[in-house]
Amino acid sequence: MKPIDWNSLGFAYMDTNCHIRYVWRDGAWDEGELVVSPYINLHIAATALHYGQAAFEGLKAFRRKDGKVSLFRPEENAKRMLVTAERTCMAPVPVDMFVDACRRVVKANLDYVPPYGTGGSLYVRPLLIGSGEQIGVAPAEEYTFIVLVTPVGPYYKGGLQAVKAIVLDGYDRAAPQGTGHIKIGGNYAAALYPHLLAKEKGYPVELYLDAKEHKWIDEFATSNFLAITKDGKYVTTKSSSILPSITNLTLQQLAKDAGIPVEIRPVAFDEIEDFAEVAACGTAVVVTPVNEIERGGKMYRTGPEIGCGPVLEQLYNSVQGIQYGELPDVHGWNVDVE
Ligand SMILES: *Cc1c(COP(=O)(O)O)cnc(C)c1O
Repeated sequence: MKPIDWNSLGFAYMDTNCHIRYVWRDGAWDEGELVVSPYINLHIAATALHYGQAAFEGLKAFRRKDGKVSLFRPEENAKRMLVTAERTCMAPVPVDMFVDACRRVVKANLDYVPPYGTGGSLYVRPLLIGSGEQIGVAPAEEYTFIVLVTPVGPYYKGGLQAVKAIVLDGYDRAAPQGTGHIKIGGNYAAALYPHLLAKEKGYPVELYLDAKEHKWIDEFATSNFLAITKDGKYVTTKSSSILPSITNLTLQQLAKDAGIPVEIRPVAFDEIEDFAEVAACGTAVVVTPVNEIERGGKMYRTGPEIGCGPVLEQLYNSVQGIQYGELPDVHGWNVDVE
């Protein structure tokens, strides 16, 4: 293993010792094995390639203050992948097998878990694909479940920084009764082009409205929408086409713990300037404050011009404090790998 400069890590793929791989055939999963090569030998007619039978998850392992390594809420990712597998007719990965796979692969790559204090973590990426051949449109008869890991650095180097977002009314990400609520690669493919358009215009993130009326807020391209009202409530969107973010669940619980009321309801875009703080939330970054949103050439202010609002900052510090073992883990979210 080459020495890693922990302080210059970003969010990019890096090879590690190995990944773990399981194959499902004739109705059962095998025992799984650690595989050194980062390549798979896949049938050219695999359904993952042609018909989009491809689900993924994202979670992190942290090296805590006490030196131990833990995964953050892996059962939640396991349960979400079960929902995705059912909707896309793929073989289900049992929760125990999923968590065990994450544990085994992190244990085999402990050298790649960034040291406590660097702000980094080991990103864990489970992947479930239809690997059996099929030309007629039908579910595959063979599935492959992989968990790969790669070390990532802190997103913020010195305090939370706000970004500007844009609503592109010419694009939708997910239909109300479609696949927006499950974590499949196809949803990301649908959002790549508008993402490039947004970036060209100078916006790092896009906010999607509901595909039917373009009236209600759904979520950002890869993260949920949350807002803090001027009277101090936590508001997040209710919609059938958003992905249930585990970070959002975590933040809701921490808000309740801190005495902040939580409202999960449809949020109209028209309300956007009523909020004191707005953010995108997800595993990779925890929270990204959004202080301005463009729609149709008009700018809407959604947070303090510089820095980050106080409630978002408090919630962010609470999540990270638990993940790095600096605050008590009262909800039992950290799962030791050893
Ligand atoms: C993965 C994902 C999120 C964030 O979910 P977390 O569990 O918090 O990482 C949000 N929106 C979409 C569309 C996603 O795919």
